[in-house]
Amino acid sequence: MHRLLCFTAHPDDEAGSFGGTLLHYSEQGIETHVICLTPGQAATHRGGAKSDAELSGMRRQEFTAACKLLRVTSGIVLNYPDGRLDRQVLMTVVEDLTRRVRELRPQVVMTMGAEGAITAHPDHTMVSIFATMAFHWASRTNRFQEQLQSGLQPHRAQKLYYGTTLFTMPDRQPVALSPSSAKIELGQRGVDAKVAAFKCHTSQSPLFPFFEETVRRRGAQELFHLAASLTPTKAQFETDLFTGVE
Ligand SMILES: [Zn+2]
Repeated sequence: MHRLLCFTAHPDDEAGSFGGTLLHYSEQGIETHVICLTPGQAATHRGGAKSDAELSGMRRQEFTAACKLLRVTSGIVLNYPDGRLDRQVLMTVVEDLTRRVRELRPQVVMTMGAEGAITAHPDHTMVSIFATMAFHWASRTNRFQEQLQSGLQPHRAQKLYYGTTLFTMPDRQPVALSPSSAKIELGQRGVDAKVAAFKCHTSQSPLFPFFEETVRRRGAQELFHLAASLTPTKAQFETDLFTGVE
């Protein structure tokens, strides 16, 4: 059974950055899992919520609806604080994510780039760093040994990808994006599903015009950068994230 694991920072990242690819692989019979680190409680757009806790609850429900639309096998929102991932204890978060890699045992992991994706959000940078460390350390017998003593096995995921694009946002902080080395064709139906998934995030409705603009600029495709591979290899342009996966 092939499994794809996606690490994100905020509810709505799964739709905006990875939605078409998640649906594409689910429809091919591949298990898809999304782990979102924060419930998005620091969002500018509050959807009428009177407290961070209320907004967290709303956004968790919106995330669940978006995952259902994208046919995600399992989607969970962790409880790290939105806007403060750069102030967490590095090893605490990496241990948590490493445990989840060892539990889910994906062949392919995807996350955001360390530049912070086109919005340059610091939480996007941090999820990239945490997930990259978890990808590499999940396979090692000398990392987080207490997990191994409690019955988990090391797990060697085979490929790590960062989401990327061929454009930046001139009105945002500068980003240096990873070059694209893989392209997933979504087709119009995939694009429509991605837009519909984003619109499950009704608390963020003021962002819908921005989102539709970026979707239009991406076209009917999502781009990725192969950041790590089990087998030492020269980069070759791919149209399937599972190419070469055993
Ligand atoms: Zn985000």
